[in-house]
Amino acid sequence: MDHKAEAVVVTCIDFRLQEIINKWISKYLQPKTYDRVAWAGGVKNLDQILEQVEISQRLHHIKKVVLINHEDCGAYGQEDTAQKHAEDLTSAKTKIQEQFPNLETETYYLHLDGAFESL
Ligand SMILES: [Zn+2]
Repeated sequence: MDHKAEAVVVTCIDFRLQEIINKWISKYLQPKTYDRVAWAGGVKNLDQILEQVEISQRLHHIKKVVLINHEDCGAYGQEDTAQKHAEDLTSAKTKIQEQFPNLETETYYLHLDGAFESL
């Protein structure tokens, strides 16, 4: 049976943020059909993320990719700066646009206080 989803949402595995992300999704992602990828560091390991996006598009015909990295990410270790997250999110968006021109991509830097900063 053919089944479709609106988006794929990519986040870090960090348990501290899951409830915040769930609430944000129910508020802003309509309709609420989405595949979810949780990977330590969010877009940090881009090749793996691209593979998941490809599968999500192929199986569920998604239209949108939502990339969420976050403040104080242990997977980034010493590299955990707002600037580094912004750079990685931007290059992830560029790669996705090159590889999947039909998909819309949104990027967010999630602060620990729950604020989503759109990049
Ligand atoms: Zn993290």
